[in-house]
Amino acid sequence: MPPLLRHSLLYQLVSVYLLFVIVVLVGGAGINTVIEQQQREAVQASDQALAQDIALETNLHLRDSEVSLSTLGYQAMQARNSQAIMQLFQTYQAARNDVDHVYWLDPLGLIQSSYPQLKSDMAVEFSPPDVVPRVRNTANPVIEVGIAVETTFNAGVIIAAPITNKHGTLVAIIAASLSLFELSDPLQAVVKAQQLQQHQLQISIIDARGELVATPDHSRLLQTVLDELPGADLALQHQGNSQLGTGLDGQSWLFSSVPVPDIGWAVVVQRPAAEALHVVTQLHLWLLTVALIFTVGGLLFWLLLHGRVIRPLHTLAIQHQALPSSEQSIPSHATQLARRADEVGYLARSLIRLERDGLAKLGELQTLLETSSVVVGSLEPQAVVGKIIREVRRLVDVQAAAVLLPDEQGVLHVLVSDGHNRRYNYALSLAPENISSSAVLALHSGQPVQKLLSTEPAPSLSYDEGFRSVLAVPIISRHAGGVVLLVHRTQPQPFNQKEIDLLLTFANYATLAWEHAVLYERSDERLREVARENAQLYQQASEEKQKLEAIMESMSDGLVLTGIDGTVLYANPGASSITGLPITELERHPIQVLYEALSRSAMEPEECARKMLQATSAEKPELLIELEPHAQRQVIHLRFFDVGDEAGRTIGRGLLLRDVTREREVDEFKTTLLGAVGHELRTPLAAIKGYASTLLQEDVTWPIEDQRHFLQTISSKADYMAQLVSNLLDLSRQEAGLLLLKRAPARLQEIVTHTIAETEHPDVMVTTRIPDDLPLVDIDSGRIEVVLRNLVMNALAYGEGEIHISAKLQENAVIVAVTDNGPGIAPTELPHVFERFYRAQHGRQRHSGGTGLGLAICKAFIEAHGTSIWAESAEQGTTISFALPLPPSGERRLT
Ligand code: ATP
Ligand code: MG
Repeated sequence: MPPLLRHSLLYQLVSVYLLFVIVVLVGGAGINTVIEQQQREAVQASDQALAQDIALETNLHLRDSEVSLSTLGYQAMQARNSQAIMQLFQTYQAARNDVDHVYWLDPLGLIQSSYPQLKSDMAVEFSPPDVVPRVRNTANPVIEVGIAVETTFNAGVIIAAPITNKHGTLVAIIAASLSLFELSDPLQAVVKAQQLQQHQLQISIIDARGELVATPDHSRLLQTVLDELPGADLALQHQGNSQLGTGLDGQSWLFSSVPVPDIGWAVVVQRPAAEALHVVTQLHLWLLTVALIFTVGGLLFWLLLHGRVIRPLHTLAIQHQALPSSEQSIPSHATQLARRADEVGYLARSLIRLERDGLAKLGELQTLLETSSVVVGSLEPQAVVGKIIREVRRLVDVQAAAVLLPDEQGVLHVLVSDGHNRRYNYALSLAPENISSSAVLALHSGQPVQKLLSTEPAPSLSYDEGFRSVLAVPIISRHAGGVVLLVHRTQPQPFNQKEIDLLLTFANYATLAWEHAVLYERSDERLREVARENAQLYQQASEEKQKLEAIMESMSDGLVLTGIDGTVLYANPGASSITGLPITELERHPIQVLYEALSRSAMEPEECARKMLQATSAEKPELLIELEPHAQRQVIHLRFFDVGDEAGRTIGRGLLLRDVTREREVDEFKTTLLGAVGHELRTPLAAIKGYASTLLQEDVTWPIEDQRHFLQTISSKADYMAQLVSNLLDLSRQEAGLLLLKRAPARLQEIVTHTIAETEHPDVMVTTRIPDDLPLVDIDSGRIEVVLRNLVMNALAYGEGEIHISAKLQENAVIVAVTDNGPGIAPTELPHVFERFYRAQHGRQRHSGGTGLGLAICKAFIEAHGTSIWAESAEQGTTISFALPLPPSGERRLT
């Protein structure tokens, strides 16, 4: 059922009504069709019967005429003379008024006599002309029937009968002409009778040629009417039928045709179709009237139903769909409906009553709900109780209310009161044995107890205060213990059941609030304790966390922690500086970001990526990778480890990154040092050993010059070794951070002069340019002399014989430069010349027996002074410069 229909009685009734009307109309139409059919069949049957009657009648009439004519013929044959025949004929014609003429013919067909008499010379012809021959050829007394056409008389039906003697010889022919008018007369009588009954009826008798032989309308006799009478042609072929057709007046007619037996004629009865189906038309009218009555009646009934029942019901339904709030009054149309005496009025009255009761109950509940929600709104026992008694005074008509709380011994005391004076609050104390007290009784029984106060047995405290009735309602909580709600009235008026029920309901809510408040108070203290403990724990934890964070932050090593899915959860600044990625780009990103960053700056990216893949798949959780982030070699040690929770489950992975460049260098240094020492000491030692052994040979006496030469060689090799050892010692000191300087202000010129004198060489020209006003420098003179000597030695070894030493003051430092005119140092090698044991591949070093330590020592000494040393080289000439610090400003003075 559609929703609109389902929700509206109105539509339902209208639908049922329409359905009913449709059924009636369809039924009417069906009945109409059946009745129409039946009616038509009945009219057809009656018309057919009428036509049949007429046909029989006509047949009988003609047969009768034949018989009587034959009889007349034989009587005439026996007549003595024509006079007698005429006499016979006259009598016959007088007896039969349908006979126009009677003829007496000889066997050849010539008229002997006729009645009424013909004019003497008149001949008679019969039409069709074969009447006489056919009569003559008939052995039996057969009658030819046809229409007589007589030249002098009106047309009629000719009946001719042969008259034979006892031998069967044709002796005469007797013929009679029957009047067509007379033949039509019975038809006219029938038509008239029908007209009297207001029926329009036409009857036609036609011969085999389709010409009218009998009709009430004489003027149409002998007209060919086959076309005008549908079905007549079938009747002429001996098939009776009825059919509708168009009449001459253009109206629809019902034609019923039957054949006239033996003669080959047909009778057609016709009547207007409208008249034939008169009953059907009547039925139509009747049906229309019924439909109209149904429509109007239904409309009236529906209007009545709508106005008197549905609309009132609809109004009531709308108004009572939702229970209105207490502010809304009962609508006036509902009260109007309630005045009605019928069922709707009864319904309206019950609804109004129901609504009033409902509203009252709702109001009560609402108040109760409001009050209890107010009560529940607080969590402090004292405040809750205060609210309880205030709301109680609002709910019921009492002058005072109090809540009593039992102490540890069960003695009830006032917790909060309203409407009592102070004395009552302090003095009231109800022991559990005092069962005459309604409060004690209520708490004991768990039921409300009410009482009218009196002086018997003794006036109570409440009575003294002027109260005459009391109601005690227990508020019992399983978890918070029980309290009693006490209400007082100044009138000795008992509390009715409604008030008691109201207070009981309220007490149930209040119990909840009381329980909550007490439990809250208890739990509050515990919570505060827990909160204090938590705060301490939190403090400790956050301190620990801060410490840990500080450690992590200050750690130069990198630490990265990932979740189980490989997302970085934490990365410390160490990790950021090693990978070169900001922490924000590491945290909350996949660990692959870190791997990619490391691979990118690795010396061999593919190898690095492969190694890291192995390490992450825990095949080898530790690895070393070499990075070159800013053209500076860096060796990083990576260690992967699982991070587990207390239960030992893996919750993530950790990665430690340690910069082990320094360790690696130290290791390498040690290895190189050992190699170098082994190599560099072996040669001079072998030389010393060789010369010393030579000198010690007892069998050979060496000339004094040779001995001297040997000893000088031994001495210089020993010097070389001493120098080498001293250099190595210096370097290892520097490596260990033990290189101590004895700094003092010194004059650079003196150091330069001293160095030049020490390294003087005949083939070399040393020039200097040192300004006289150069300030003193704050240096360890011994170390700087070593530096200068190393540089001059290099210039000697790798230069072309010209050395230039210069010095200048530049920004709080004295820059000293040693320049030679050698082939220089290749640009690719220039950055490495200060490295230990590094010796350039090109240039003249092959001629010099150096160890590659000279410049490394220079660098160590200069950097120990807090300044720097650098090399510049062109195709011709190399300049090694270094800076020397000035003394602190207080000690500075010009040389
Ligand atoms: P030694 O330890 O005896 O000094 P060394 O001279 O080979 O040995 P360094 O003084 O440290 O070692 O010099 C390192 C390298 O730098 C040299 O081997 C040389 O190739 C190159 N070099 C240093 N000074 C010059 C210079 N003035 N001209 C050209 N090449 C130089
Ligand atoms: Mg050198």
